[in-house]
Amino acid sequence: MADEADIANDFIDNEVSRALGKLRQDAVKKAGPKICGECGEKIPEARRKLGFQLCVECAEENERRKSLFAD
Ligand SMILES: [Zn+2]
Repeated sequence: MADEADIANDFIDNEVSRALGKLRQDAVKKAGPKICGECGEKIPEARRKLGFQLCVECAEENERRKSLFAD
């Protein structure tokens, strides 16, 4: 027979991770391009003003990948 406490714990775990996931999504939406679309790191304001939506590292990584595909 299933332990009621275990069931309750599973339920709470699910609810908590769902709520946390939603909070994170909301934060990303609100922050918009303030944070990197790839890794969630903050993008420097000067960079943001230039219209970049990725941090320096991810942009470089993207470029590297693109050039790999281009070959
Ligand atoms: Zn990034």
